[in-house]
Amino acid sequence: MTERLYYADSYLRSFRAQVVEAAAGGLTVYLDRTAFYPASGGQPADTGSIAGSAVLDVVDEGERIAHRLSAPLAAGVADCAIDWERRFDHMQQHSGQHLLSAVFEELFALHTVSFHLGADSATIDLEGGAVEPHTVRETERRANAVVFENRPLSVEFEDRAVASGLRKASDREGTLRIVGIAGLDRSACGGTHVHSTGEIGPVFIRKIEKVRNTTRVEFVCGGRAVRRARADFEALSVAAQLFSVSVDDLPAVAAAHLESARADDKARRKLELELAAFQGRELYAATAPDADGLRRHTRRLERGGLEQLRALAQSFTAQPKSMFVAALNDPPSVLLAASADSGIDAGKLLKTALAEAGGRGGGSARIAQGSVANRELLDRVLEKL
Ligand SMILES: [Zn+2]
Repeated sequence: MTERLYYADSYLRSFRAQVVEAAAGGLTVYLDRTAFYPASGGQPADTGSIAGSAVLDVVDEGERIAHRLSAPLAAGVADCAIDWERRFDHMQQHSGQHLLSAVFEELFALHTVSFHLGADSATIDLEGGAVEPHTVRETERRANAVVFENRPLSVEFEDRAVASGLRKASDREGTLRIVGIAGLDRSACGGTHVHSTGEIGPVFIRKIEKVRNTTRVEFVCGGRAVRRARADFEALSVAAQLFSVSVDDLPAVAAAHLESARADDKARRKLELELAAFQGRELYAATAPDADGLRRHTRRLERGGLEQLRALAQSFTAQPKSMFVAALNDPPSVLLAASADSGIDAGKLLKTALAEAGGRGGGSARIAQGSVANRELLDRVLEKL
């Protein structure tokens, strides 16, 4: 049975232990005692080194803890070191989670049903009602106030039968390890925690999302919160500089710019249609009728959208005895428009031409469009039209 040093001292970062068994060709080792935390209760496993071999994963096998290594080791005495930066970050997030869960419970009777600690942020899932913006602000304010009060955290071992006042009933039998925040919380937990709430550092709630019948609350604490705030500030500063305003004025100014851009876009589209109508009429006037009295015009562009040419085609064929073919090489597509008195059914004619080229499309008697697989097939469709 492995002695779990992290249960008693979560600040132990280097220790000497005996490799009592080396399995999997020496790549999995068992120690007589370990400070390496195995993935459990939402907190990821520690990394670090055992006798110079990197620890890739730590697995709780019940009685014993398995350490998976990058290079094989044999039995013997080993000096071990935990990646302290990573571990302390986990302690800040995990203690921060207990604090946040306790405050959500205390202020809003929202129960934490699960906890996940990821590489960039951590989440808790809450049951018991909706999480409104004011709920988030109030919880965050209260949690940070408890951080400023620098309350002690404690670890006590109590028998389940007599342990009382737990935030969440434990399904474990026998002795419970109870992590407490003075005057606020008692939770059964095997995780590694800081000594006092001040070490959690700033607590910052971020995204809120509905996940089935729970609300998932994303948060960052300590060093993560500072890094996140720095990244947010730098992103906001870049955006504010683009608009030549202060960060505080950014939302209002960005909204005004967006609204103005939408109005400009609408006006531009209206002008484009007016211009297309004008160009269509001009083009019609400049096009001589063929022997059958029909004015024909074909416009082929390398790339773009057929929509650009649709207004021109409609304007051209709004004049009598006319047909207009528009084509794009990329993506290979074609549009056919015909005046009402042209004797041409654009939809039927285009469908026939497309069918021979294995293309798809259709439309009304006045205007139709379609697409083919490649440029050579487009040539065949245009020839047919
Ligand atoms: Zn916990």
